[in-house]
Amino acid sequence: MSKDPSYDIERREAIAAVLQACRLCGSVQATHLSGGVIGKEDGSPVTVADYGAQALVSAHLATRFPNDPLVSEEDAHLLRQPQNARVKEVVMRHVADLHPRLDEEQMLEAIDRGKASGGSSGRFWTLDPIDGTKGFLRGDQYAVALALVEEGEVVLGVLGCPNLRFDPLNPRGPKGSLFVAVRGEGSAMRIMDGAEETKIQVSTLDDPSEALFCESVESSHSSHEESAEVAQILGTEKPPLRIDGQCKYGLLARGDVSLYLRFPTRKSYRETLWDHAAGCIIVQEAGGRVTDLQGRPLDFSSGRQLERNRGILASNGRLHDTVLDAVQRVWREP
Ligand code: AMP
Ligand code: MG
Repeated sequence: MSKDPSYDIERREAIAAVLQACRLCGSVQATHLSGGVIGKEDGSPVTVADYGAQALVSAHLATRFPNDPLVSEEDAHLLRQPQNARVKEVVMRHVADLHPRLDEEQMLEAIDRGKASGGSSGRFWTLDPIDGTKGFLRGDQYAVALALVEEGEVVLGVLGCPNLRFDPLNPRGPKGSLFVAVRGEGSAMRIMDGAEETKIQVSTLDDPSEALFCESVESSHSSHEESAEVAQILGTEKPPLRIDGQCKYGLLARGDVSLYLRFPTRKSYRETLWDHAAGCIIVQEAGGRVTDLQGRPLDFSSGRQLERNRGILASNGRLHDTVLDAVQRVWREP
C-alpha cells in the first residue's frame, strides 16, 4: 500500500486494528481467565488477551504496511513452550473468532514480528497490546496502545480504552473510549463503537492547588509517596486518581485530570516506547505537555526503551513548569 503523507490511511488502519484488539480483550475479560495467564521471566503476567491482541494488530499491520517494523511488548517464545500449549490453543481460538484465516504458525509469527529494535531512522509502529495487564486481570481499566514513529518522532497515536466511560459525568453512559491523534491535526475521541469523533482539549486550569492528578495504581510502577509530596507542595487536597495503563493520558487529553506523574521506583528501570508513544502524542495534540521528570522531551529514537529519560510528567501545559519545580524538590533517584 502506498504511503500517504497525511497519514489518513495509517490513521484508519490503526483505528481498525486497535478496535479489533479491543474486541478480543473484551471477550477474554468477559470470560474467566483461569489458566489463561503465564508468568513472564521478569515476574509480570501475560494473558491470552495480550498475545491475541498483539497477533491481531500485528497481522493487520503486516498486510497493510508490510515494510513497517513493529516494536511491541510481547513475543511468542513462552507460547511455543510445550507446557503452555493449552494457553496457545485458547489464544488461537480467540484470534480465529476475529481473523479466521490465520493458522497457528502465522499467529505465532505475527506475535514475533514485534521484536523490532526501533531507532532514529525510518518508520516503525509501536504497540502495547494490553497496557495495564494488572488492571485487566482485576477486571478494571486497561488500554490497547498503538503509535507510528517516524525518524524518532511519534506522528500518530491510537488508544483504545474499552472500560473507560465516554462521559465521566454519566456513570451509566456508554463504556469504551477511543482516542486518536495525528501530528499537527489535534486530538479526538469517540465512543468505541461509534463513528462520530469529537475534538478534545486539555483542561485550562492554571491554579495548581485545584489540580487533579493521576498516577499508576501499582506503587511498584510509580512511587506514590513522591507524588503525594508534590501534591502537598502544590497545595492540592484532592486525592490522586489511580488508573491503569495509558488511560491516564486519555483522561489528561480530554481534561478530566490536569497532571500525570510517574516516579521511577527502580534505578535501572527504563520506560518503554509502547507504554508512552500513543499517549504522548494524544496529550500533546490536545494542547498538553509531556516530559520526563527533569523536563526533557521524551526521546523515542533510542531503541525499545526511553534510554534518555527518567520518569514522566504530563500536564495540561499551563501547570507544567510549576509542577516541574515541585518535582525537583521531591525527586530522589531510587
Ligand atoms: P501503569 O498501569 O501506569 O502502571 O502502567 C503499566 C505499565 O507499567 C506496564 O505496561 C509495564 O510495562 C510498566 N511497568 C512494569 N514495571 C514497571 C516499573 N518497575 N516501573 C514503571 N513501569 C513499569
Ligand atoms: Mg504497558
